Amino acid sequence: MSGQVPIQAELTWIDGEFKPGVRVTPGSDGRIDDIQQESSLQVTHPRMALVPGFVNAHSHAFQRALRGLGEHVPAEQEDFWTWREAMYRLVESVDVDRMRTICIQAFREMRLAGITSVGEFHYLHHPAGKQWDGDRVILEAAEEAGIRIVLIQVHYVAGGFGIALSGGQDSFNTNDLSAFWASMDQAQSLCQPCQSVAVAAHSIRGVPIDDVASLHAEACSRGLVVHMHLEEQVQEIESCVEATGSTPVRLVLDRLSPGAEFTAVHATHTVPDDLEELLAGGSHVCLCPLTEANLGDGFPDREVLQHHQGSICIGTDSNARISMLEELRMLELSHRLESGARGAWRDSTGHVHRSLLDMATVNGARSLGIDAGRIEKGAYADFALIDLDAPPLVDLEVNALGAAIVLGSGNNAIVDTCVGGLWG
Ligand SMILES: [Zn+2]
Repeated sequence: MSGQVPIQAELTWIDGEFKPGVRVTPGSDGRIDDIQQESSLQVTHPRMALVPGFVNAHSHAFQRALRGLGEHVPAEQEDFWTWREAMYRLVESVDVDRMRTICIQAFREMRLAGITSVGEFHYLHHPAGKQWDGDRVILEAAEEAGIRIVLIQVHYVAGGFGIALSGGQDSFNTNDLSAFWASMDQAQSLCQPCQSVAVAAHSIRGVPIDDVASLHAEACSRGLVVHMHLEEQVQEIESCVEATGSTPVRLVLDRLSPGAEFTAVHATHTVPDDLEELLAGGSHVCLCPLTEANLGDGFPDREVLQHHQGSICIGTDSNARISMLEELRMLELSHRLESGARGAWRDSTGHVHRSLLDMATVNGARSLGIDAGRIEKGAYADFALIDLDAPPLVDLEVNALGAAIVLGSGNNAIVDTCVGGLWG
């Protein structure tokens, strides 16, 4: 299929429900040019449902190469930090060509999972000591796979509070803020259509809070969104309190006054009052359910998050498994198990699939600062096409379909994706 050809699927996801008789026409600029709703329109894709392409708000593409490798768990080392050691061994062994291959594979696999945009939280800047080659490789890999990318350029200067980077971490080093912004300018100059940049501080242990504040201020003046790993691990919080007298999120709230431009990735152990303040200020929280489950991170405060569901987005993070539908299912079902109650992420109508699908689409797009994740005139023409005759979905009523897709189907129900009006 090519761009600018109108598509009328049997059903189209618009305004939180599947509707028949919708024709969507992409324009030559890669955005949705026109939407018609008329029952007499000819169906071009029978037994197919058109949904917005998924937005993956947090990925480390190179970590796909760790799949299956970080799973040896010696007794009494059952935590995140042993996985991190495996990741560092990978970083020390990967060269530019290998990194390109890994990233292309990860991005292609994302498209097979219905993901049309990825926020690549990128900190492997110098693979095999090649200065800044990693930045170019990421953008080239995304172009090759045909996925829309926001290159979230990560500032990373310390191995902990008062600890210099060492060993494999040297590949992450952005030195100082002027070197970081020079790398941003360089990355921006490399961007092709469907590519843009954003800013990140790796974490409170990777960047001193003064640098985080300066980075945030400059990003805001440039109109760029800012992401940051925050409070995934208890040990990170304890070290921060010991070094600064404050928790990481408290420091960020006090020094940055973050708003809609800011996304906290994980916030697993953030105390309810801080989480409420962060979300009430308009910031996003990116949850990475499969990675957080894989690493045994724990549960974020659902009660607070539930009141701000429109600010939650989803990332595949370590890419140990790439399936946006499975991320959503893990998020819903794990919280049911934890709370002993159903409908963990239900909306005011009592359904869960609408809020979950929003997390995987429009909320992620807002977090990344891109006009995607919804089927609406003017938004990017980024779609996924779902086969209504796929085994998990065959013979279902329309009103069951949304929940069935989220809770009962998977990547094999997704038959094609479209990025900027271009299919497959
Ligand atoms: Zn991450």
